[in-house]
Amino acid sequence: MRIVLLGPPGSGKGTQAQRLAARIRIPQISTGDLLRAAVARGSELGRQAKEAMESGGLVDDSLVLGMIRERLDEADARKGFILDGFPRNLVQAHALERLLASLGRPLDAVVQFEVDYAELVRRISGRRSCADCGRVFNLLSNPQPAAGEEPCPKTGAPHRLIQRPDDNEATVAERLRVYEEKTRPLIDFYRARGLLRVIDASGDLNEVTRRLVQALGVRRMRAPRVAPRAVRRAAARGRKAARKQALPRRGRTAPGRSRPAKAADARPRRAGAGTAKRTRRTRRR
Ligand code: AMP
Repeated sequence: MRIVLLGPPGSGKGTQAQRLAARIRIPQISTGDLLRAAVARGSELGRQAKEAMESGGLVDDSLVLGMIRERLDEADARKGFILDGFPRNLVQAHALERLLASLGRPLDAVVQFEVDYAELVRRISGRRSCADCGRVFNLLSNPQPAAGEEPCPKTGAPHRLIQRPDDNEATVAERLRVYEEKTRPLIDFYRARGLLRVIDASGDLNEVTRRLVQALGVRRMRAPRVAPRAVRRAAARGRKAARKQALPRRGRTAPGRSRPAKAADARPRRAGAGTAKRTRRTRRR
């Protein structure tokens, strides 16, 4: 499926995109995450994007479009994607439409997240994300799991929670203003194309996921098939037999040898094996 999640900052697009991506096994593509990574790397793109991001404005369309073109060209995006934070204005929406039409892969659905203003501000102030894997949490509604549970998949340790530098009061007000002016018109753009679905994105996290999944009519993807136990055991027996055949035994000529292999060659010796015995014997003497 090719999906766009639309909604103001703090409406939960990122969190729900991550949940949906895990559920239907297609990548979440967040232009905000890609831009933050570019800034952290100190790349030319990051250098050019930094100022707009810090002020709460939009990064130049040509930069964002170049970045999204490259990302959609990657192998994992061929089977579908969830766009989060893109498109952000009509120029980007038209460009995306042309790009996907040229690839013969048009959008399937656009979901608009509806949350009231007071709730948005409350959510943004509690938002934290893991500095290593990027998973989004909320101190108020979606805290980090207890120690030992669901550690960071990148480090294996508890998530290192940080607050985004643009999640401060002044920048948030500007981001919400920019959303109203530039991004809200996309609702009509996609409604006119018959792609728009609207969900109530306030309230419980699991309930919002349920509404999203229902709006998209998607089902959980089946886990990769694991062979039944009997088949796995038979395969293991086959591997063991093959190893035995390949391993030279006392008196048997190993492939490529002209004389029978000695038992010592056949079985790999543990480091230090036999030394204890020799030492005892030496001591006795
Ligand atoms: P987000 O993580 O989606 O809230 O994005 C953080 C910041 O990155 C935004 O406030 C913008 O400055 C910039 N940004 C993200 N996506 C876009 C986009 N599609 N177009 C322009 N700027 C963007």
